[in-house]
Amino acid sequence: LGGSISRAIQQMSNATIIDEKALNDCLNEITRALLQSDVQFKLVRDMQTNIKKIVNLDDLAAGHNKRRIIQQAIFNELCKILDPGKPSFTPKKGKTSVVMFVGLQGSGKTTTCTKYAYYHQKKGWKPALVCADTFRAGAFDQLKQNATKAKIPFYGSYTESDPVKIAEEGVERFKKENCDLIIVDTSGRHKQEAALFEEMRQVSEATKPDLIIFVMDSSIGQAAFDQAQAFKQMVAVGAVIITKMDGHAKGGGALSAVAATKSPVIFIGTGEHMDEFEVFDVKPFVSRLLGMGDWSGFMDKIHEVVPMDQQPELLQKLSEGNFTLRIMYEQFQNLLKMGPIGQVFSMLPGFSAELMPKGHEKESQAKIKRYMTMMDSMTNEELDSSNPKLMNDSRMMRIARGAGRPIRDVMEMLEEYKRLAKVWSKMKGLKIPKKGEMSSL
Ligand code: GDP
Ligand code: MG
Repeated sequence: LGGSISRAIQQMSNATIIDEKALNDCLNEITRALLQSDVQFKLVRDMQTNIKKIVNLDDLAAGHNKRRIIQQAIFNELCKILDPGKPSFTPKKGKTSVVMFVGLQGSGKTTTCTKYAYYHQKKGWKPALVCADTFRAGAFDQLKQNATKAKIPFYGSYTESDPVKIAEEGVERFKKENCDLIIVDTSGRHKQEAALFEEMRQVSEATKPDLIIFVMDSSIGQAAFDQAQAFKQMVAVGAVIITKMDGHAKGGGALSAVAATKSPVIFIGTGEHMDEFEVFDVKPFVSRLLGMGDWSGFMDKIHEVVPMDQQPELLQKLSEGNFTLRIMYEQFQNLLKMGPIGQVFSMLPGFSAELMPKGHEKESQAKIKRYMTMMDSMTNEELDSSNPKLMNDSRMMRIARGAGRPIRDVMEMLEEYKRLAKVWSKMKGLKIPKKGEMSSL
């Protein structure tokens, strides 16, 4: 998807005249890509209309930041769809809340209930699980197993067949035990049958949940909107959790779920394990949807803080996997110019903590300046080499002497370089626009 979108944008910016037709072609291409990613047709069409309103063709014709304007408009529109305008009910620690989970069978309810409980337990809550699924054989065993593993109290029955009764009893019991997060797992059924919805309604009536969470499998495709809407019509869905985001699906259905339930996505499931559960964050999600990958935030920062004329070269070098001392030097220069230090690098895992610990900005800045002084004593060969063996003792000694620093400082700087090179080697193979195309991004 990301590929086709950037291709579409690129094609358009290559067109000599950016007229309405070129923009339309581009938008049609993007529409196709979003549909393939399971974003609902109507949402895509509305987005297309909005973008046409936002993107001023005159600006585009003037040649200013064509691609950037359009890409930004798409990004913003998708983010807007994911924001229903009001936050969901948020349980408060120490105050009793009842949270009910609904969704089709296999969507991941039982797994997600435990993840949700475990997530809060780790933060000092007292959660409890109630199994109100009497429909599926083994449902109680599954919940019991999960709960036991996480050491979370649970309630259920092998003999009672009335889910409403169990739900009511379970919630009562855990209220008495002063649990602050009582989670009710419900049955799913394969189809959206009337019986399922009636059961949901009754369980909801009996337990009076503070929040009903709709759980949706990210791979259900275009069916997402209707499914989410059907649940919303029966019970007061207030939040959404999208599961199986570790799979192939990009999760375009999330946009449908938000649109249909007018509720925010609050978490995503990223695996079968208890801790494969993340707080939902709109921007990275949209980046992923657009195929921009984990580095998108980083790329955005690069666009913000690295001078435009330096970007193509830097990104080219990084995509080739050549993180030389000279690149480090140039990036230090940028860093020092940037003001609040570490904006870019703080996005890289394991980077800022060591080189620029929070609260030690002054020291970090001094250290970077010290590094740069030593690099000023390096030869071009040394700066441009990516051969770690080049830096022998005599070279290090010469650099130390030239910079008036102890050799230990030179070694420290080279260690830092090695560490950075390792992190930055992840940029290798990064798909970036070719030289010359960058300035308009
Ligand atoms: P329920 O019928 O809605 O209660 O769904 P379950 O919780 O029983 O989950 C159905 C299947 O999906 C199980 O095999 C789970 O392990 C799996 N599952 C749930 N969430 C995730 C997820 O985020 N990632 C992956 N890979 N599998 C998941
Ligand atoms: Mg279940």
